[in-house]
Amino acid sequence: MTTPYRHEPFTDFSVKENQQAFEKALKTVNKEWLGKDYPLVINGERIITEDKIVSYNPAKKDEVIGSVSKATKELAEKAIESAATAFESWRYTKAEERANILFRAAAIVRRQKHEFSALLVKEAGKPWKEADADTAEAIDFLEYYARQMIELANGKPITSREGEYNQYIYTPTGVTVSIPPWNFLFAIMAGITVAPLVTGNTVVLKPASATPIIAARFVEVLEEAGVPNGVINFVPGSGSEVGDTLVDHPKTSIITFTGSREVGTRIFERAAVVHPGQQHLKQVIAEMGGKDTVVVDKDGDVELAAQSIFASAFGFAGQKCSAGSRAVVHADVYDEVLKRVIEITEEQTTGNPEKHSTYMGPVIDAASYEKIMGYIEIGKDEGRLVSGGTGDDSKGFFIQPTIFADVDPEARIMQEEIFGPVLAFSKVSSFDEALQVANNTEYGLTGAVITNNRAHIERAKQEFHVGNLYFNRNCTGAIVGYHPFGGFKMSGTDSKAGGPDYLTLHMNAKTVSETY
Ligand code: GLU
Repeated sequence: MTTPYRHEPFTDFSVKENQQAFEKALKTVNKEWLGKDYPLVINGERIITEDKIVSYNPAKKDEVIGSVSKATKELAEKAIESAATAFESWRYTKAEERANILFRAAAIVRRQKHEFSALLVKEAGKPWKEADADTAEAIDFLEYYARQMIELANGKPITSREGEYNQYIYTPTGVTVSIPPWNFLFAIMAGITVAPLVTGNTVVLKPASATPIIAARFVEVLEEAGVPNGVINFVPGSGSEVGDTLVDHPKTSIITFTGSREVGTRIFERAAVVHPGQQHLKQVIAEMGGKDTVVVDKDGDVELAAQSIFASAFGFAGQKCSAGSRAVVHADVYDEVLKRVIEITEEQTTGNPEKHSTYMGPVIDAASYEKIMGYIEIGKDEGRLVSGGTGDDSKGFFIQPTIFADVDPEARIMQEEIFGPVLAFSKVSSFDEALQVANNTEYGLTGAVITNNRAHIERAKQEFHVGNLYFNRNCTGAIVGYHPFGGFKMSGTDSKAGGPDYLTLHMNAKTVSETY
């Protein structure tokens, strides 16, 4: 029996020893982990190509984190073939054996936890706290899915009549293409890789091009933990060449994707096409964007509201699909809440994420920087700029946390996902109006309501249409096994990563009925 699942604790960086341990890990990573070149992995074979994807530190544009070989269409096809061959034996391994590999992988990561987090600081510009949470979540996915698989190993109970024995069991689906995002570069990448693995599928992992190094290291962890050749394949490459090839391949059965709405929709459409030789319909698990709202009711606690809005909007520079980039506040408390959010925001430092004191690091790359700065310009026409509004990309891609007040609910900065540190405030005059504004986007991922009104809590539970709804807290930071994560509408397929139904999305349910 395994111990019951509990989430990996976060590191308390106010403790001096923990601070020192993290400083040391940063030094180790700077000295020993950076600058390496990682090959493709296909059927256990290391393949080095001429063409590379180079990963840079977004806080220091010229610092190379490492490089990975870049796959071609032919190599992507080879990876699918290798996964298809490996599936024929991996599918029959025992659930417990597969789960044990995940437990071992969790132990390997835990032994070097700070080093992994330090790599996230370097590769994605995450401040310590966010990097620590990302690594903890990766460990959680390993621990949680392993236990879930053990529970599902014998299927679920159904009824049998006399003289008959009925079973409802789960069998693996097939070759899975995992396409993770760069924002939760460890957690989500690990989660969407190990969920298919532990359910008996084989995987072709195409890492995010901005953050391929953590993925390359994680593949090494999986191999060390005992994942056989061909069961995990690693093929970095471009979306249009490698991504499309993997998605379109007739031997691909599942595509599990987290990223933008644009790419997710494209994958969904392409996956619907049945190619010659294909013997099944493909399944898509897609987690896409968000335009998430923190609602503040007229009797909500002002300080709690301000802290919640701040954390939701600016954690990891707003680069979360769960980010609360919209504050919808009742007129009675609007001025007070706004003033307090500005104060809290202006007390924090934006800068080098390697420093413990930094609250917010850079945004991921030049394209993001340009896009976010463009939205700040749009915001200047759509609202009143009350904080931030500037950026500096001379050394890294730094943007000050930016707040716009008095924004119309239909304005672009209230409707479009910016994926950066830009927060818009809208004033409402009733809870009805607050709910109406909260639901007025095409997304439905997360939301929070700050209120002390019991009736309003119950109403929001029914009428605030998001996959993850939180009361009297921020709308980011879902924890595996505690807050299963996934959204409605154009936020995706509501697959609820880290939840009790997630693994079954990767398996076919099979009814077996034996007559005695
Ligand atoms: N699960 C994360 C959270 O609750 C967000 C994931 C994402 O941004 O893709 O904050």
